[in-house]
Amino acid sequence: MGFRQDHLLGIEPLAPDEIREILDLADDYVALSRSADKHADALRGLTQINMFFENSTRTQASFELAGKRLGADVMNMAVAASSVKKGETLIDTAMTLNAMQPDLLVVRHPHSGAVDLLAQKVNCAVLNAGDGRHEHPTQALLDALTIRRKKGRLHRLSVAICGDIAHSRVARSNLILLGKMENRVKLIGPPTLMPSGIAELGCEVYENMAEGLKDVDVVMMLRLQKERMDGGFIPSEREYYHLYGLDAEKLAHAAPDAIVMHPGPMNRGVEIDGTLADDINRSVIQEQVEMGVAVRMAAMDLLARNLRARRQAA
Ligand code: ASP
Repeated sequence: MGFRQDHLLGIEPLAPDEIREILDLADDYVALSRSADKHADALRGLTQINMFFENSTRTQASFELAGKRLGADVMNMAVAASSVKKGETLIDTAMTLNAMQPDLLVVRHPHSGAVDLLAQKVNCAVLNAGDGRHEHPTQALLDALTIRRKKGRLHRLSVAICGDIAHSRVARSNLILLGKMENRVKLIGPPTLMPSGIAELGCEVYENMAEGLKDVDVVMMLRLQKERMDGGFIPSEREYYHLYGLDAEKLAHAAPDAIVMHPGPMNRGVEIDGTLADDINRSVIQEQVEMGVAVRMAAMDLLARNLRARRQAA
């Protein structure tokens, strides 16, 4: 059947075979990225524009490197210095960029749904690099690749996603992906950080780390997203760490070979113990970053193939 998408706006629209296709191709790009000559020409002749309306370290660098490794011309639009600050609307900015004939537009935006809206207005492939609390599809895909390589499979695993679920697009995208691939997902966090009705998405909800972590194969920690909180969601960081911060003691409830993940940026001593985060026997946080480049190469390659086919047919 093949990868059928024109854009990568979320995990929601993807079928399991499309997820597998991205991950299989990403495996090849991991090998390429580890070789001496890291170049391929899947995106040669194409223009990629990265528009980040919200701060990013890892994701923007990762998309930039991914595009360059595949031979695209990559431009990072400095949004802070752009007309957006002068009051131009998102759509006007997008239309201006569209007139420059980009082929791939990578967009991060603080509002949920903004990237979908933009994709309807432009005639190139759009990749969502995170929109508000909605989705962060390449993060879920890089997490899936990391899990699949570490655990040897991506189904029938028990995965705990812990912490600030309510504000997290990473949690949402992962929850959807892991569900599609038939895994057991357990969400753990204080009730104030748990969206109401979330259990309807087919996951189990826990308030207590010891209970929720019992025998899980994967522990995903999330950052406390204070920038998205407008009130007292937690009593204090110290108390939060005591109850929900992952340390060796809490991890002991998980399976003995459970892996520890975090999308970054990490708050050491808030949601995760610094020593555990650096423990190469349990933590795969650095691998996640490596997989991020490969997954973005794969996603852009597959989208570019469909874009070329569409243009040829037109
Ligand atoms: N980097 C991830 C995101 O952009 C997670 C985080 O910010 O905590 O959603």
